[in-house]
Amino acid sequence: AKGRGRAGFRFYSAELTAQAKQRGMLETALRRAESAGELVVFYQPKIDLASTRLVGAEALLRWQHPSLGLVQPDKFIGIAEDTGLIVGIGAWVLKQACRTARRWNENSSQALKIAVNLSSRQFRDNDLVALVSDYLQATGCSPAWLEFEITESLLLEDNEAIGIALKAFRAMGISIAIDDFGTGYSSLAYLKRFPINVLKIDRSFINDVMLDRDSTELVKGIITMAHSLRLELVAEGIENAVQEQFLQDFGCHFGQGYRYGKPMPQASFEAHPLMLACR
Ligand code: C2E
Ligand code: CA
Ligand code: CA
Ligand code: CA
Repeated sequence: AKGRGRAGFRFYSAELTAQAKQRGMLETALRRAESAGELVVFYQPKIDLASTRLVGAEALLRWQHPSLGLVQPDKFIGIAEDTGLIVGIGAWVLKQACRTARRWNENSSQALKIAVNLSSRQFRDNDLVALVSDYLQATGCSPAWLEFEITESLLLEDNEAIGIALKAFRAMGISIAIDDFGTGYSSLAYLKRFPINVLKIDRSFINDVMLDRDSTELVKGIITMAHSLRLELVAEGIENAVQEQFLQDFGCHFGQGYRYGKPMPQASFEAHPLMLACR
């Protein structure tokens, strides 16, 4: 048993070394990705559930690596966050989103909002409020066309600067959404402390809705709470008609998921039937 344990350990550490190497390789490549023009923003449609009309999109980052192909965010966002590279990359995503929002809203009969994911590092490492103001000015994007998605864990950091920045964003007219709502430490006190106006119900609850009694009741509870607190509600990960019907019946406002469209390059989004219906 002892021998096997040692062999197991040796195997384990070899695997760790391989992982560390791969991580180091990705980090080096990621440092060059932005300037090499390898980063791409995909857009996933967000719809009004009552009318199933387009209301906007979520900006989701992709990395088009020359030999690895299209790298999904779960492979590199963590590295970008740990190394601080997310500060520069996140700023780049933000600027793309502002440009795109301007472009779409020039041609659309109704306002289209773009949601951008923000990491906690972005609040720590630079003056995010000044950066956002600059980008809005430079691109001619209205703050009403932007939404920022943050996680519950960011609000638990108890960092005064975060609260100040969020207040400034709301004062400018930018929406603030809690992403993956229900998966973090749901102390809920932060809904009072911070200027949140949107909740995004995590995909895992939507996935199990009508299949698992607890998830069904949880989603109903979140919808009721959002209504009484006058928060906008977005359900993510809607894949089928059963989930859609449930959310429509209980009055969830907005939805996102493969049922309406996967994240796609900007050009595909602009040619999508949901988008064409906005002209
Ligand atoms: P997220 O913010 O929770 O984004 C939603 C994820 O769910 C996306 O994965 C999207 O492709 C996926 N999704 C949407 N609808 C469906 C569906 O119907 N079924 C299923 N199975 N999945 C669906 P993606 O694009 O791989 O992004 C993963 C995560 O990476 C994001 O999770 C977000 O946390 C992070 N991320 C992506 N782009 C950025 C960025 O620009 N900045 C930061 N800080 N994080 C980002
Ligand atoms: Ca998100
Ligand atoms: Ca999410
Ligand atoms: Ca997520």
